[in-house]
Amino acid sequence: MKNVRYIFVTGGVASSLGKGVSIAAIGTLLESRGYKVTIQKMDPYLNIDPGTMSPYQHGEVYVTDDGAETDLDLGYYERFTNSALSYLNSVSTGQVYYTVIQRERKGEYLGRTVQVIPHITNEIKNRILLLEKNNPDIDFVLVEIGGTVGDIESVPFLEAIRQFRLDKGPERTLFVHLTLLPTISPAGEVKTKPTQHSVKELLNQGIQPDILICRAKNYLDDEVKSKISLFCNVTVKRVISAPDIDYTIYEIPNIYHKEKLDDEIMKYFKIENTDPLFSGNPTLEKWESVVQVFKNPESIVKIALVGKYIVLSDAYRSLREALWHGGLPLNSKVEFINVDSEILNSKNVKELLKDAHGILVPGGFGERGISGKLDAITYARENKIPYLGICLGMQCAVIEFARNVLKMENANSREFNADTIYPVIDIMEDQVSITDKGGTMRLGAYPAKLVRGSLLQQIYNSLDIKERHRHRFEFNNRFRNDFLKSAMLISATSPDDKLVEAIELNPSVHPWFIGTQYHPEFKSQPLKPHPLFVSFIEHSRKMILKNK
Ligand code: GLN
Repeated sequence: MKNVRYIFVTGGVASSLGKGVSIAAIGTLLESRGYKVTIQKMDPYLNIDPGTMSPYQHGEVYVTDDGAETDLDLGYYERFTNSALSYLNSVSTGQVYYTVIQRERKGEYLGRTVQVIPHITNEIKNRILLLEKNNPDIDFVLVEIGGTVGDIESVPFLEAIRQFRLDKGPERTLFVHLTLLPTISPAGEVKTKPTQHSVKELLNQGIQPDILICRAKNYLDDEVKSKISLFCNVTVKRVISAPDIDYTIYEIPNIYHKEKLDDEIMKYFKIENTDPLFSGNPTLEKWESVVQVFKNPESIVKIALVGKYIVLSDAYRSLREALWHGGLPLNSKVEFINVDSEILNSKNVKELLKDAHGILVPGGFGERGISGKLDAITYARENKIPYLGICLGMQCAVIEFARNVLKMENANSREFNADTIYPVIDIMEDQVSITDKGGTMRLGAYPAKLVRGSLLQQIYNSLDIKERHRHRFEFNNRFRNDFLKSAMLISATSPDDKLVEAIELNPSVHPWFIGTQYHPEFKSQPLKPHPLFVSFIEHSRKMILKNK
C-alpha cells in the first residue's frame, strides 16, 4: 500500500472564493510533477445531491461517467486534472446522515446511542478513505470542504478532518485554508483582520492551517505576508498570494507555481529527491499556451447562448468552459451573447442575434422559455448560422423542424404538452413509471454509434463514442420515417438503435447544424478540447467574415 497523502482545503471570510478552482489548480500542479491525484467535494447541505436543486440555487449540475449528479466544482476537477471522478468524489451531509440512519434502522449500532461524534464523523472519514481503496495507484487525495468556516453546517466535516490528521499523522495530512483579504478604499489598504479571525475560527475547531492561500486584488507585499504569518502562525513562505485575474482561471496553476505553492507542498510532505514519489519539476507550458490564447487571440468568436438561466453564469458553467476550449486550437477566444429565452420572440430575434457567429441552445427543463428557443433555432436554420443544440437544445431543434419544415402543426415534446398529436419528443419507455425525482433520469456515460458519412462522424473521426447524459425525454421513434425523408438526419443512436443520440441537417441545406441528446461539455478539457466544440467554433468563426 502506498503512503497516500491528503490535502484538505477549507474556505474562510466569504463564500464563492473559488475553492473548487483552487483545489483543482493544486491538482494540476501535482499532476504536472507526475503524481496521480483524485479530488473529493464535501457539500454541507442536506440534499443527497444537487440533482433536485434549481440552477439559481446551485449553478449547474455536473454529471460524472458513472451517472452521479454532482456539484459543479467536480467539473473544475475534471477540467484541471486527469482524475476520473465517480459518485465517491461527491459527498453531502444528506448522504452521510442517510447512510448512518439506514444503518441505525438495521440495528447495526447494537443498542448504542447514534451521535454526530463518532458516527457521523466516522462515516465522513470512511468516505475519504474509500477513494484510496478504489484508486490503488493514487498518490494524493485532495478534499474540498464546502461552505465557509464558521458555518454551522461545516462543523462535522471540520471535526472529521481534525480526527483524520490524528489518525494519519501530520506527515500525511496538509491543511490549506483559502481566505479573502479585502481592500478598503480610498487608501487601498489590504486588510488582514478577517483572515486572522477566520483562522481563529478554524483553531476553535482544532485545526491549524499549514498553508494559507490569500485571495486579494493584487499580489501581497512582504509586509502583509509577514503580518499574516505572525498572526496566523503560518510561515511566510506558506502565505500564498492569489490575486484577482483579468483573463482566465487557467492561469491559476501558473500563479500558484510562481508563488512556489507546489514547492511548499513538496517540502511540507518532505518529498525529496530520494522519495520514491519525487518526480522532479512541473511542466506547465501547455497551460501557459492556453492563457496566451485568452490574452492575445487571433480572432473573437461570438456565440449566442439562448437559455433560461443566462443571468447566472454558473448555470451553464461546463458549457461556457467547453466553448472556450473549442476556440483554443484555433487561437480564438469565445465571447458570449447571453440571450434570455423568455425575452426572445419572432419579432426581436434578428436584433438579439444579429452579432452571433454561432447559436447554442443548452439543456433545460420545463416549458418556460421554450418558444424563444424555437424562434432562435428557426433563425439559425433559415440564416445558415452554425447551431449546436444540447439535450433540450436538440429536442427543440427536432420540434422546430417538425413544425416548420415537416408541417406537423403544434408538434411538441410531451414534457410541455401531453396532448399534442405530434409528440416528436416523448418520455423514455423506462421513465414512464418513475415518480421519484432524485437520481432517476438517464444519467452518466453511454456508448453511441455514429452514422457513417455524417458530419458528426467526420468531427469525431470515429464511429463509436461514449458521452454523458441527463434526461428523461427522447426523440420519438414513431416519427423516424418522417424525418428520414427530410433534410434532418439522425446521426447517432444507441448501439441497439433504439435511442436517437444526435441529429444534424444535411449539408445541402445548412453548413453546420447539430443537436446532441447527450452533454459533450462534461468531457471537454482545456488541454483536450472536445472535437464537437472545436468544430462548432471553427464554423462559427467563418461567420466573422460574412458578418463584416
Ligand atoms: N428536459 C429534457 C429531458 O428531460 C432535457 C433535459 C436536459 O436538457 N438535460 O429530456
